[in-house]
Amino acid sequence: MAKILAVTNQKGGVGKTTTAVNLAACLAEAGQRVLLIDLDPQGNATTGCGVVKREALPTVYQILIGRSTIPDTVLQTDFGFHLLPANRELAGAEVDLISLEQREYRLRDALKEVRADFDFILMDCPPALNMLTVNGLAAADRVMIPMQCEYYALEGLTDLVATLRKVRANLNPALEIEGLLRTMFDPRSTLTQQVSRELEGHFGDKVYKTIIPRNVRLAEAPSYGKPVIAFDRGSRGAQGYLLLAQELLDRRTDNKAAGVAAVAGVAQ
Ligand code: ATP
Ligand code: MG
Repeated sequence: MAKILAVTNQKGGVGKTTTAVNLAACLAEAGQRVLLIDLDPQGNATTGCGVVKREALPTVYQILIGRSTIPDTVLQTDFGFHLLPANRELAGAEVDLISLEQREYRLRDALKEVRADFDFILMDCPPALNMLTVNGLAAADRVMIPMQCEYYALEGLTDLVATLRKVRANLNPALEIEGLLRTMFDPRSTLTQQVSRELEGHFGDKVYKTIIPRNVRLAEAPSYGKPVIAFDRGSRGAQGYLLLAQELLDRRTDNKAAGVAAVAGVAQ
C-alpha cells in the first residue's frame, strides 16, 4: 500500500517542486514504485520531468472534477516513475470544485483505486493554502515540509503547523508530519546555522538528518527536463536527494520493525 506524502509549504520558492521531482526519481531508482502528482497550476513538476504541458493533455484537473480517471491520465516518465501532470487549466479547479460534492476529498477518493499499485505517492503542492492544497492534505498520510533556514521560515512554519492542526481536526485526523527538510542550505551563513539548530530544538527527530545543499545543478536540471540524478549524478545536489531517499526508506523499515516489535510485545 502506497505511503502518500504531500510536499507542502505555503511559502513560495522553498524547494517543494525540486524535492518532489528529485525524490520521485531517487526512490524509483531504489526500486520503489512511485507516482508523482503535480498539484500546482504552474506545472513545474510536469516540465521538470520532461513532459511538455500541452493544453490538450488530460491532467489532475480532469480527475478532480470527475472527467477522467487516474489510469486514463497517468504518464510514464523517462525516469522510472509515473506522473499525473498539471497545466494552467488546474487553476480553474478552485472555482469548479465549489459546486461539487465532497470537494475536499476528490483526490483522496480518486487515489483509492491506485493506492495498491505504488509504494510512494508524492504530491507537489502549490504555494498557497487553496482547495488544491486542501485536496492534497486530505489525501495524504504525511506531509514533508521543505524549508530554507532563514528567519521568516520559522514564522511561516508556525502558520503551517496551525493549518495542519485545522486539517487534522476537520478533514484528516490521521495526518502527520513526516519530516522537515532543510533545502538550499548554505553552511557559511551564521543565520542559517542558527535557524537550523532552532528547528532541531523544536522538532527533534522530525527534522531529516539529510540536508539539501544549495547547488546550481539542481536549478539547472529542470531546464533540461530531467531530475538531477539523470543530469549530473556526481553533483552535491544529486547526492543530497539520493541520501534523502535512503533516509526515507530507512525510516520506513524502522517503523515496520517497531510495528512488528509492538505486535510481538502484545502477543507475549
Ligand atoms: P513554488 O512555491 O513557486 O512552487 P517551490 O517551493 O516548488 O516553488 P522550487 O521551484 O523547487 O520551489 O525552487 C525554487 C527555485 O530554487 C527554483 O529555481 C529551483 O531550481 C531553485 N532551487 C531549489 N532547490 C535548490 C537548491 N538546493 N540549490 C539551488 N537552487 C535550488
Ligand atoms: Mg513548486
